[in-house]
Amino acid sequence: MLNNPKFGVVSLGCPKNQTDTEVMLGLLKDAGFDLTFDNDEADICLINTCSFIEDARRESVRNIVDLASDGKQLIVAGCLAQHFKDELLNELPEARAVVGTGDIHKIVEIAKAIVEDSSLRIVQVSAVPNDHIDEVMPRVSTSVGASSYLKIAEGCDHACTFCIIPMLRGKFRSRSIDSLVQEAKILVAAGTREIILVSQDSSYYGLDLYNRMALPELLEALHEIEGLDWIRIMYFYPTETNRKLLETMARLPKVVKYVDIPLQHSHPEVLSSMARPLHPEKSVQLIREILPEAAIRSTFIVGFPGETEEHFEHLHKFIKEAKFDRLGVFTYSKQTEVPSGNMKNQVPQKVKKLRRNRIMETQLEISRERNEKLIGKEIEVLLEGYDEVKELYFGRTQWDAPQIDNTVYVSPDGLSHSWLGEIVTVKVDEAKPYDLFGKAVVPPITTESALLELAAKV
Ligand code: SF4
Repeated sequence: MLNNPKFGVVSLGCPKNQTDTEVMLGLLKDAGFDLTFDNDEADICLINTCSFIEDARRESVRNIVDLASDGKQLIVAGCLAQHFKDELLNELPEARAVVGTGDIHKIVEIAKAIVEDSSLRIVQVSAVPNDHIDEVMPRVSTSVGASSYLKIAEGCDHACTFCIIPMLRGKFRSRSIDSLVQEAKILVAAGTREIILVSQDSSYYGLDLYNRMALPELLEALHEIEGLDWIRIMYFYPTETNRKLLETMARLPKVVKYVDIPLQHSHPEVLSSMARPLHPEKSVQLIREILPEAAIRSTFIVGFPGETEEHFEHLHKFIKEAKFDRLGVFTYSKQTEVPSGNMKNQVPQKVKKLRRNRIMETQLEISRERNEKLIGKEIEVLLEGYDEVKELYFGRTQWDAPQIDNTVYVSPDGLSHSWLGEIVTVKVDEAKPYDLFGKAVVPPITTESALLELAAKV
């Protein structure tokens, strides 16, 4: 038996995985386990893994091996655990438990069992992770700044031929509006200023539970929460990008004008082969019509099996014309468990990389142009931290999601650390393709203003 072991944590992968990590930590903490964010002092490490593509898998394995060679006992959870439970248990003596994506709520009983019996090894992986948990779970925040993710649904009902997610995460299961609002209120009371809604397909929200697309209703309900400034939606699916949702976004001031819509490709033959909706240009058109001020973020895959030079040029032209505000391009990653992995005409890695680079060069210019237009303008920035090297504060606009989009660096003039977590107005004076620089337009702290503030309070 281990006496009072400390639990460390490594969370990999997407924001949806991050919310799972936070819930597992919350459950462990509530059960009285000792947690640490310094893995050097941990006895057992919870590692929540990703298995979306080959690179993510490699990163998960590298982290597991590093922790094991540091002598840590491991609880391996998440997508890699769901995907390779037997391999992990057989090849990794340090793995004390392997926990599937549908089993995270069992973390406390698993932790108790391995702490009490040092010889025990547990596999808790439901074959089909279709559990439906619609309660507000305790969470320990692992995010920096004033933003929190809110996972509105789990799983996916689509069948994109390149994607393993439905196999690893099960069918789409929405959480109820009541439980999401309750959780959002707890997060806001703890200091969250921005709630970021995540799932595999957020525009599909509610269809399984209420028999209708209920994201507009959820937005209305969240909008009522006092103290919440921004609501961001990640992961629209093209066909469900409907008029009503966009109109609701336009009407509600707290919903940031940001549409994250992975389109994956533009050529009808490639999209058909991917089993994705056709005519992505119509989605872009509709968004620009209803939300002209919105930033549109999209992601694309190059080098999908059978993608010819002509298909690629079609995509390149589409991207040049659509001028996305934010863009991610991935080279296709072959996985034999999904249909595209067994398609003929796989594209050589070298060609995929060249195609990716060509699009990123194009996007660099689009992004530079867009950012330069902001010079001299005043923009709202959520201040998230202070960069000790650059000696500048940094944050994000409503057009930028954490970790994937642009950063705004702000001169420290007139600011102090007490502004962190606040939304400040910044006048932009310099633009780089993916970063902006500027000064905060904040009222100077004078004796007179301090006295006026005091007078207003008494
Ligand atoms: S919609 Fe997204 S998560 Fe669902 S199958 Fe397609 S790519 Fe995967």
